[in-house]
Amino acid sequence: MQQINHYINGQHTQPSARNAAVFEPATGEHKANVSLASALEVDAAIELAKKAHGPWSEMTPLNRARILFKFKALVEANMDELAAMITREHGKVLDDAKGEIVRGLEVVEFACGIPHLLKGEHTEQVGGGVDAWTLNQSLGVVAGIAPFNFPVMVPMWMFPIAIAAGNTFIMKPSEKDPTSVMRMAELLTEAGLPDGVFNVVNGDKEAVDTLLTHKDIQAVSFVGSTPIAEYIYQTAAAHGKRVQALGGAKNHMLLMPDADLDQAVSALMGAAYGSAGERCMAISVVLAVGDVGDALVEKLLPQIQALKVGNGLEGEMEMGPLISAQHLAKVRSYVDKGVSEGATLLADGRQLTVADHEQGYFLGGCLFDHVTPEMTIYKEEIFGPVLAIVRVKDYAEALTLINEHEFGNGTAIFTQSGEAARHFCHHVQVGMVGVNVPIPVPMAFHSFGGWKRSLFGPLHMHGPDGVRFYTKRKAITARWPKGNSGQAEFVMPTMK
Ligand code: NAD
Repeated sequence: MQQINHYINGQHTQPSARNAAVFEPATGEHKANVSLASALEVDAAIELAKKAHGPWSEMTPLNRARILFKFKALVEANMDELAAMITREHGKVLDDAKGEIVRGLEVVEFACGIPHLLKGEHTEQVGGGVDAWTLNQSLGVVAGIAPFNFPVMVPMWMFPIAIAAGNTFIMKPSEKDPTSVMRMAELLTEAGLPDGVFNVVNGDKEAVDTLLTHKDIQAVSFVGSTPIAEYIYQTAAAHGKRVQALGGAKNHMLLMPDADLDQAVSALMGAAYGSAGERCMAISVVLAVGDVGDALVEKLLPQIQALKVGNGLEGEMEMGPLISAQHLAKVRSYVDKGVSEGATLLADGRQLTVADHEQGYFLGGCLFDHVTPEMTIYKEEIFGPVLAIVRVKDYAEALTLINEHEFGNGTAIFTQSGEAARHFCHHVQVGMVGVNVPIPVPMAFHSFGGWKRSLFGPLHMHGPDGVRFYTKRKAITARWPKGNSGQAEFVMPTMK
């Protein structure tokens, strides 16, 4: 049985006293055990990261960037191995796993521009013989806590910018799929990253609570479910830390009657069923405006029934299993609930079996029609391959539904009307908006984040917000007077 421990100060550690089981979702096999760090083990990692911060933050930004350039090349050289690790532990199909690595590497590429990104502002002559400028300096030791659904990409939303800016980092991956982060830690060392700059602590609530309350952790980045995000935000903020905590989602596609339906249906298939719906930007609700619902169902249903579901390691698959037996049971129970609450189940993925993978956590694509806003399957995040169609009379009703939903991560409008799209972008209360783009994930040089209960904290992930989050600003005002400049002043200096 494979044993996964921690990666601290450039080395794998000994096992902890407590472990969690890691499963292969396609087969249901218990394939590894992962150490769960105690508070003392986390303390020790933080201490080493604190020691590493001095020399690392003194290294020139250009030299820090050069290490990230090497890391990028190493990740590319090891792409197949990393993708297979993701697929084995998470279940998503191999090409999707490669896609998440590429999207993560885009943040590394952005962070390679750190010499430019750290530049401050400068004003000459703010007063007679006085100049003012700003410095963007590192915070110290910062922590990242990741969910299971993007085991490589979400950590890469965090650590490349954090370390490029001169911080040292403690990563706490999901205990469900920790292997690929451990491999990235090895690749960072191989790229020349000094020991202690990037550390991986595996664990559960005990490790997380230690990070949230430790005096030497300056900032916490979190991605996961909303109840935990809210807890992380409140606890870390109460302990004086900067926090960005990204939570759950219920992303709506607003389908106008004038949309190109073939294009919208293809977009929906990937956005609702890709990665078995386990994406925070997955589309889980379609608001079918006017009479477009019937035509939508007619085109969508055969494609759902034809979905190739199986082991993601097999090249031709389109959708893999869910992450765990517990999550499968939870998603199935939502499907049961939708039926009992009166929605029409047009595609029932509960019937699916995958040959030779009877113990795998598979669920076929599910489609509900005539869902109403009062139903549980409309209100709650399901995080599985379950799409709900809500029929609405007009655009205004659709917009109101989106704006009244508790989550505000992503949304998309499909239309050929520039006027409707423009109105939607301006008025919708959601952080990331697509126009004929189903999953509008911003590129690395923009910032990623939702609104409402999809994000706690003012700053989004990566892009300009990422640089702001991981740096503190210092404003300097300086003059070089000759001799004694005169008398003491007891009134506010007004920079004459
Ligand atoms: P989760 O909240 O269960 O776990 C996330 C992390 O928190 C893990 O590292 C876990 O070990 C830790 N954790 C869990 N319970 C904890 C507790 N009681 N105290 C302290 N730490 C705890 O989330 P998940 O199931 O791994 O991921 C799926 C969720 O993540 C979905 O809700 C999804 O929408 C969300 N997500 C959001 C985004 C986004 O950008 N907004 C991106 C990806 C995933």
